[in-house]
Amino acid sequence: MAKPVMADKHLHFAQALSPGGWAKHVRIGIADGVITTLVEGVEAEAGDECHAIGLPGMPNLHSHAFQRGMAGLAERRGPGDDSFWTWREIMYRFVDRIDPDGLRAIAALAYMEMLESGFTRVGEFHYLHHDPAGEVYADPAEMSRAIIAAAAETGIALTHLPVFYAHAGFGGAAPQPGQRRFLHDLDGFARLLDGARAAAMQLPDAIVGVAPHSLRAVTAAELGHLPALAGNNPIHIHIAEQVKEVEDCLAWSGQRPVQWLLDHAGVDARWCLVHATHMTPDETRALAASGAVAGLCPITEANLGDGLFPAPAFLAAGGRFGIGSDSNVLIDMSEELRWLEYGQRLFARGRNMLAPDAGRSTGQVLFEGALAGGAQALGVAAGLSVGHAADMISLDPDHPSLAGRSGAALLDSFLFAAGRGAIDRVWRRGKDVVRDGRHIARAAVIADYRRALEPLVA
Ligand code: ZN
Repeated sequence: MAKPVMADKHLHFAQALSPGGWAKHVRIGIADGVITTLVEGVEAEAGDECHAIGLPGMPNLHSHAFQRGMAGLAERRGPGDDSFWTWREIMYRFVDRIDPDGLRAIAALAYMEMLESGFTRVGEFHYLHHDPAGEVYADPAEMSRAIIAAAAETGIALTHLPVFYAHAGFGGAAPQPGQRRFLHDLDGFARLLDGARAAAMQLPDAIVGVAPHSLRAVTAAELGHLPALAGNNPIHIHIAEQVKEVEDCLAWSGQRPVQWLLDHAGVDARWCLVHATHMTPDETRALAASGAVAGLCPITEANLGDGLFPAPAFLAAGGRFGIGSDSNVLIDMSEELRWLEYGQRLFARGRNMLAPDAGRSTGQVLFEGALAGGAQALGVAAGLSVGHAADMISLDPDHPSLAGRSGAALLDSFLFAAGRGAIDRVWRRGKDVVRDGRHIARAAVIADYRRALEPLVA
């Protein structure tokens, strides 16, 4: 029989969201970063650290950290109609100049902001691999090391998703010059994965998955080789984000992207389909039935003018979803969830669109759904339970928007009224990395970011 583990410390919450719902007087023991005991309905003991409102940390299932550095730089109207594709040209020009240390500094800022907004694990969909000339670095995982260093510096948990990217369009079209830093063949990609896995060992609980970039960037034959490289770890892909992508896929295969992927790639619960914006009702039901997670990025999808995910039909079919900050134009967990709901309200001219039954709290449905789906997509267990990492948030009970609230009403008021300003502390593996809403290394991370950004925006 295993020896009971003695807790290093105890946290006590007047109320906390546990897997069984809201509980009162929750005492959580933590040892080596992991929850070892969780008892409800008990008072605090001497030496406990006491807080009012506890929530599990939220997974951020989709990020391109370097894009934080260009946030706001693509909001000026161009000569013609602007679109995702004109935004991508600006992104390619920005990406041309980033070196490993610059990537580390930008990623550290993004990860710090994620923690401050309540995200405790990030899925980094990482495609910036090579030097500015497109040559492989002496260490092929040099840029992955920069991401891992940023995670170590800020304390965020990392699910690293090295991206396989080989082509510029469906059917293996030759890559463009702007894509030269992203490209691999399958052998080179296997070397990158080996390097990234070795580097990730320095983090306490990192996971390394695999990410075929999109059906534009990977041939059917290449896609067939990638799931085996993931083992049991997550597989993420961008899909059906843009109408043009749907049209190009139809022209190439006669099928729409989600339909093609479900028919050809063995999609299961290891997979996360990022965006999946443009689906027919049949695709929506089939994706829900596959057990894969839909990776929704409402702020970025709004910013890029992607379109609106068919969330009510997907949830009604039992679909699983999580949220991602994607382009990192604005990093804010509560705002992602708010916009997931608000997009549907604006479209359908209704309210409480994602709560399934009368009387259900929209805030709690959004929070618990994104928690479970996000954790699945990042390869970890969700929520506050014994054996899980002690990744937690506390809300400030003195925030005026939370006055007099308890239980589900706290989540509704946090997500729809207070926002990130109500976040007091954030713990990673039991260590508080955010206090009074600010990361403990905030000043140093920002100073480092400013220095790194100067040559990139000059
Ligand atoms: Zn993306």
